[in-house]
Amino acid sequence: MKNHFLSMKRHPARGFFALLAVVLLTACSSQTLNAAPLKAAAQGSPAGIPTAGLPSPTPAQANQAQTAQGLATSPAPACTSPAALTPAVTEGPYFKASSPERASLIEAGVTGNQLTLTGYVLTTDCKPVAHALLDFWQANAQGEYDNTNYSLRGHQFTDEAGRYQLDTVIPGLYPGRTEHIHVKVQAPNGPVLTTQLFFPGVTDNQTDQIFDPGLLINIQDNGDKMQATFNFIITR
Ligand code: FE
Repeated sequence: MKNHFLSMKRHPARGFFALLAVVLLTACSSQTLNAAPLKAAAQGSPAGIPTAGLPSPTPAQANQAQTAQGLATSPAPACTSPAALTPAVTEGPYFKASSPERASLIEAGVTGNQLTLTGYVLTTDCKPVAHALLDFWQANAQGEYDNTNYSLRGHQFTDEAGRYQLDTVIPGLYPGRTEHIHVKVQAPNGPVLTTQLFFPGVTDNQTDQIFDPGLLINIQDNGDKMQATFNFIITR
């Protein structure tokens, strides 16, 4: 039987078809190579946080992932299994239920040095907790709570990778207390962790009866807008 491919090789138009095939293959492969980094950038997942098997992000999720890109370039979450649970501390007298859902507490009338706090909610085996609830409340820059309305109060949920981002201002001091941000954290259908976050280097940390060094945020950039991180380790 005559070999078909050998007969093709002797065809006079062989050179033209071969060239056409090379051009088409080059075009296809360059598109594939360009698509890969774009997809990775949209997901913005740091090393150590598994995203395999997650559905493709919606545009809103992709935007959220892109706002967390600063986190992706910072060190991966320091989490070694089994990780120690985030310490619980007292709720204090100023919690108010039914805060609005919002990741930014900065609105008209809120003044002070701005802070962007990012991080993860993780389990003791370092698995991200998606859709975990975080309910933040704090004093304003003058050390006063809004107990009438919801200024500097807001709740949000972690994304599919267990990430959150809070935009706020650095709280002021009030009698007997160092700088702190209150928060309740809860995995879906899990127990509620009530705790407070503290700022490193504040003199009043040394005399605050509630202060716990395990609740210090990690300052990444102390410029005009402070960037800091904190990872919560919770049970679910
Ligand atoms: Fe307080």
